[in-house]
Amino acid sequence: RHDDHHHRDSGLARPGKVKEVTSLTNPIVKDLRSLAIKKYRDQQGAFIAEGLKLVIDALDLGWTIKTLVYSKAGKGNSLVEQVAARTIAKGGDVLEVSEKVIAAITRRDNPQMVVGVFEQKVLSLSAIKPQGNDVYVALDRVRDPGNLGTIVRTADAVGAKGIILIGDTTDPFSLETVRATMGSVFAVPVTRATEAEFLTWRKGFSGLIVGTHLKGAVDYRTIAYGNKPVILVMGNEQQGLPDHLASACDKLARIPQEGRADSLNLAIATGVMLFEIRRGALKLDSGT
Ligand code: SAM
Repeated sequence: RHDDHHHRDSGLARPGKVKEVTSLTNPIVKDLRSLAIKKYRDQQGAFIAEGLKLVIDALDLGWTIKTLVYSKAGKGNSLVEQVAARTIAKGGDVLEVSEKVIAAITRRDNPQMVVGVFEQKVLSLSAIKPQGNDVYVALDRVRDPGNLGTIVRTADAVGAKGIILIGDTTDPFSLETVRATMGSVFAVPVTRATEAEFLTWRKGFSGLIVGTHLKGAVDYRTIAYGNKPVILVMGNEQQGLPDHLASACDKLARIPQEGRADSLNLAIATGVMLFEIRRGALKLDSGT
């Protein structure tokens, strides 16, 4: 088939043109499929977001699209055509593919009609300068992509300013994490730091650092949040917060529990904390 004659290193022959691809062995498709693996996401500095609405939101928020992929079902859809035009205007590539190809790229049986490949964006810790009643969530070695995605989504919902990933964490740009964020990955800035970097940065931070700990002595509802920036520090799913991170916190909060469970799920605990911290700031009529 003449659409499959491209060499791996040549990429798209003519950037900015719509290209039709139907074969799973096409090198461009292979590159896109490789984005399911962290090593290749990092090499390409890219990640995949699924769904037309997400791609439109991402473009509106100024994210850089590298490639727009849509299935035949999207052909003639005016929203898809608009997104394709925007992609081309920004120098991105547009691929029209079979549903089978989208399913292979996103590793799903019932894939979305549209998929966008975006440039990864990670803020450096030094760029974070909390002010007012800003809230940030710092996650110690978060492991589960569903938890991370859910936390990003929840952080977005409460108007938190960003996520700080401490140490070796699951990738915020994996298919599973991005999916769980439901688009909030584009709204909430993510920062990565080693534990040492975080502890150094912390010395220059004059707001409140609230850690959460199963041995925390403070009922999370008794803390005065709201008049200064807050960094909420959450522990790893298995091990909780290590002592050196816990001792760097101004307060160690606990959510009282009844029943048999020893602890709450990390994303749930983060949600409970965030809604308490933002209690005074969130109003029914301030949402969208
Ligand atoms: N086995 C771990 C431990 O001993 O800490 C359980 C960790 S828990 C599943 C994951 C994280 O959620 C904790 O490190 C803490 O940040 C938060 N968390 C869960 N339940 C909590 C509670 N009742 N109070 C405060 N934080 C809690």
